[in-house]
Amino acid sequence: MLTLATPTTAVYGPVQSWRFGRSLGIDPIGAVSTCSFNCVYCQLGEIQVSSCDRRMFVPTAQICQELQSLPLCSHGLPSASAIDTLTLSGSGEPTLAQNLGEILTMAKAIISKPIGVLTNGSLLTDPTVREELAIADWVAVKMDAISADSFRRINRPQPTLKLQELWTGLLQFRQQYSGHLAIQTMLLTNWNDRDRAEYISRMQALRPDEIQLNTPTRPQPLTHQLEARGNHLPTTYSYPTRQLKRVKVQELKAFSDRLERELGIPMRYPFQTAGADN
Ligand code: SF4
Repeated sequence: MLTLATPTTAVYGPVQSWRFGRSLGIDPIGAVSTCSFNCVYCQLGEIQVSSCDRRMFVPTAQICQELQSLPLCSHGLPSASAIDTLTLSGSGEPTLAQNLGEILTMAKAIISKPIGVLTNGSLLTDPTVREELAIADWVAVKMDAISADSFRRINRPQPTLKLQELWTGLLQFRQQYSGHLAIQTMLLTNWNDRDRAEYISRMQALRPDEIQLNTPTRPQPLTHQLEARGNHLPTTYSYPTRQLKRVKVQELKAFSDRLERELGIPMRYPFQTAGADN
C-alpha cells in the first residue's frame, strides 16, 4: 500500500478523510505554516506567519519530482490506485502559493485522479487566483461565519480582509467555475435561527454542489505541528492540545437535513455513515 509519511516532503499521506475518501496531500506552503486566517480551531496549531501576499514557497519542480518518485503500480504508472483524489492543502492557505496554477497543471499531467484544493477563499477577490483555482477538478471553500463579528472571532483574518468582499469573490468564482464546488462550514456552537436563515439564503444565491458541515472532532495542537496537515489522528498526543467547543452529531444532522431539504444538494458531516455520536 502507498504510504508516504516523511513530514518534510511536500507530498504526504495518503490520508483517509470523511469528506474526500483516500487523499494524497500536496503541500505548496511548506514547513512554516502561513495563512491569511488564524482560525481558532486550526489543526496546525497557532499559524506562524500571517499574510495575504502570494509568493513562491515550494518550487513546482520539487513537487513534480516527489510525485514522479511515488511507488509504481503494475502498469508502471505512479501508484495512484490506492487513492481517490489529490488534495492541495497542507501548512496553510494554498492559494498563497504563486505557483498554484502550475502545480495543478503539472499534477494533473502526472496522476490521472481528480485534484482539488481546500481554500479559505480569502484570495478569491483576485482574478488570477480564480483563474488558477479553476484548473482544479474540485474546490472546497471555507465559510464559517455569517457576520463580520463572528468572522473576526472564529477565523481571525488579516485585518485587511472583509467578509463581504470575500463573499463577492466567491460568487464571482462560482460564475466562472464549472468544476465541483463544496462549501465547508465549521460549527463550534449551534447557530441561532437568524444566522441559519442567512446562511441558507447565501447558499441559495451561491448554488454550491455540496456542503460539508463540520465540528471539531479532535483536540487542537497549541503549537505548530506539521504532522497535523496529514489528518494525523494519534491516540495519544506528544504535544500540548486543547479540546474545542463542538456541537453534537444530532444537531449537525438536524441542520444538515434542513439544508438538504431547502437547497436540494448533497450534504456531508462527520460520522454520517457510521451513525456514531460525539
Ligand atoms: S484557513 Fe485553514 S490553515 Fe488557515 S488558519 Fe484556518 S484552518 Fe488553519
